[in-house]
Amino acid sequence: MHINELQLKNYRNYEKATISFENKVNVILGENAQGKTNVMEAIYVLSMAKSHRTSKDKELIKWDCDFAKIQGELTRNSGPLSLELIVSTKGKKAKYNGLEQKRLSQYIGAMNTVMFAPEDLNLVKGNPQVRRRFLDMEIGQVSPVYMHDLARYQKILHQRNQYLKQLQTRKVTDQSLLDVYTTQLSEVAASVLKKRYEFLQLLQGWAEPIHHGISRGLETLKIQYKSSVDVSAEQDLSKMIQAYYEKFDKIKMREIDRGITLAGPHRDDLIFYVNDKDVQTFGSQGQQRTTALSIKLAEIELIHGEIGEYPILLLDDVLSELDDYRQSHLLNTIQGKVQTFVTTTNIDGIHHETLQKATTFHVKAGE
Ligand code: ATP
Ligand code: MG
Repeated sequence: MHINELQLKNYRNYEKATISFENKVNVILGENAQGKTNVMEAIYVLSMAKSHRTSKDKELIKWDCDFAKIQGELTRNSGPLSLELIVSTKGKKAKYNGLEQKRLSQYIGAMNTVMFAPEDLNLVKGNPQVRRRFLDMEIGQVSPVYMHDLARYQKILHQRNQYLKQLQTRKVTDQSLLDVYTTQLSEVAASVLKKRYEFLQLLQGWAEPIHHGISRGLETLKIQYKSSVDVSAEQDLSKMIQAYYEKFDKIKMREIDRGITLAGPHRDDLIFYVNDKDVQTFGSQGQQRTTALSIKLAEIELIHGEIGEYPILLLDDVLSELDDYRQSHLLNTIQGKVQTFVTTTNIDGIHHETLQKATTFHVKAGE
C-alpha cells in the first residue's frame, strides 16, 4: 500500500500543508527542528491513531490551537482509501472513506506502517515496558481480536488490582470476588499470551535470516519470550488458562500482601540473543541497532504475510547511523516493493543510488 497525499492542519509546527508523495522512496530533507519527524509522525498517527513518541495526544496539536487534523489518500490492493483523524482536547475522531468510526479499534489496521526511529534502540536497550508496548502495537495492527482481548485484559486487571488493594488494607475480607476476577483474568491472559507466541514465532522466522544477512552471515538472532507462567508456545489455550490459574493460586497470599497482580502478560518480557548472548547485556551499540533493525524489517514481511501487501516504511534519522554495508543491505531489501520515507539533515551522508534518485522534499519551519 502507499500514501499518495497527506494533508495536515494544525499538526505540531504545521499550520497547513498538503504533500503529494512518490509511491517508492521519499526523502524528507531539512535542518534540525524544521518538521521532518513531524511529517513521519503524522503518517504513523494516521495509521495507528497514536504517536510513536508520545502518549499525550495534546502534544500533537499546534500550540494555541484546539484541534489537529491529518488526512491521507492511499492506494491499497483493494482500491483507494481515504483516512481522516482529528485530535482535539476532547478526544479523537476517525473517518474511514468519509464514514466516522465509532471505535478506534475498527479504524486501526486500515493503513499499516512500520516506523524505525532512533528510539527503537530502546526495544533492545530499554525496559520491559517498551518491549510489551512493541508487541501490543504490532500485533494489534494485524489483529483486531488481539486489541479487543488486550483492552479486556487491562480492564479486568485494573478491577482485580483494586480488589487486591482492598484485601490488603482489610477494607474487605471476602475473597470470593477475587476468585471470580482470577478466573476471568486467567482466560483472557491466556488468549493474549497465545497470540504473542504466535506473533513471535512468525517474527523469529523472518528476523533470523534478515539479521544473518545484515551481519554478513556472522550473527544468529534468537527471540525468547519470558512469561510469568511456565508454558510453551505449542500448548493449547486450555493448558495456558490452567497454568495461569495454578500460578495465581500459588501466589495468592503474596498478591494480597502486596495489593497487586504479580503475574500475567503485563509483566512479561522479550529477550534477544545474538549468537546465544543476551544483546541487551553483551551487545555492542551496532549489534543492538542491527537487532532492532532486523526486527523492524521482519515486521514488514510479517505484515505482508498477514494482509497480502506491504506496509509503509518510515525511517526517521536512522540511515545515517548505519554503516554503508547495512545501509545498502536495507535499501536493497525494500527496493521497489515498499513505499519508504527517509528523513535526513544531509543528503551527502546517504550513498545508495535509490536515495539519490528519490524525490526529495525540503522542509523548513513547518513548510
Ligand atoms: P531533527 O533533525 O532535530 O530531528 P525535525 O525536523 O525532525 O528535527 P521535528 O521533530 O519535526 O524536527 O520538530 C520540528 C519543530 O516542531 C520543533 O522545533 C518543535 O519545537 C516543534 N513542535 C513540536 N510540537 C509542536 C506543537 N505541538 N506545536 C508547534 N510546534 C511544535
Ligand atoms: Mg527529527
